Amino acid sequence: MTTAPDSPHRTERLAPDAAGIARAAALLRAGALVSLPTETVYGLAADAGSDRAVAAIYAAKGRPRFNPLIVHFDSAAAAESIAELPPVARLLAERFWPGPLTLVLPKRPGAPLSELVTAGLPSVAVRVPAHPLAARVLAAAGRGIAAPSANPSGRISPTTAVHVLDGLAGRIAAVLDGGACPVGVESTIVDVSDPALPPVILREGGLSREEIASALAAAGAPALGVGGRESAGAPVAPGQLASHYAPAAALRLNAEAPAAGEAWLGFGPDPAPLTGPALNLSPSGDLTEAAANLFSYMRRLDAAAGPGGRIAAAPVPETGLGRAINDRLRRAAAPRDTPGQG
Ligand code: AMP
Ligand code: MG
Repeated sequence: MTTAPDSPHRTERLAPDAAGIARAAALLRAGALVSLPTETVYGLAADAGSDRAVAAIYAAKGRPRFNPLIVHFDSAAAAESIAELPPVARLLAERFWPGPLTLVLPKRPGAPLSELVTAGLPSVAVRVPAHPLAARVLAAAGRGIAAPSANPSGRISPTTAVHVLDGLAGRIAAVLDGGACPVGVESTIVDVSDPALPPVILREGGLSREEIASALAAAGAPALGVGGRESAGAPVAPGQLASHYAPAAALRLNAEAPAAGEAWLGFGPDPAPLTGPALNLSPSGDLTEAAANLFSYMRRLDAAAGPGGRIAAAPVPETGLGRAINDRLRRAAAPRDTPGQG
């Protein structure tokens, strides 16, 4: 039924009826990529619990880095399966969900989420979209669905199914054609992940700052903070916004083989023999498989290497998803300037 997410497809254009909704949900459950209309823009959706499906999002978009993705649910109750809702978050969720508001929330330990979705962070961005087609697909899929905008990296966000096909035909399984998106700009992102800090707008979008501010004021909740982890409105590109998981171990890049005492993060055929802890991102050299494994393998090797440990990483080609993998590895290898931010 579905081919591997990274192999060429004939992209199905699904009608906005019960059969189209059921087909979209079935494809998502099978790990395929489906573009869904939301009230903001068309999303490029995949099962947020599948490393492989989430890696395929990055491959289809040609994204040069793994910035964390928004996870979509059909209700706040469903969102609570993966995230905690601190009091201010609950207030905003009750007032503005479903709608063009994304909340960055504390991730529940053990939540069934790919580490690629959160870029290894302890927080997760969640939204309950208002678009009736998106809501019905999410309900039928019955799981969290990761979805950035459905455009190739660097192009503008699509607001019609034709825009989606212009950019991604042949790279995704299907697009559910819901006509034009009513809001047409991305969701507003509010960070409420630290109950000790005031809520902070990380990205302006379809829900205005004034509406959020007045809802907080009406409830006697803490006012919107300026700055916080990243100052609102500052010209930071998505993906540089969030702090990222960094291993405690020192990472040596483009290594031919591990030196004595180094753990090994392989890609493609391994040098023989390997003695210490070793994991291979993809013995066959498949970049989508490597991306799917990247965060969990870094974490496992970090734990195996222990405090003050060292990890050597094999070279990964700087093509396709390899660019995002190398970006992540380079940042993991860079000296830390913000301890604790990780
Ligand atoms: P997009 O998927 O293109 O709509 O972008 C999603 C935005 O949400 C990006 O700017 C991310 O950096 C931001 N984001 C997602 N998850 C988190 C998180 N856990 N913490 C902070 N920002 C996040
Ligand atoms: Mg986008």
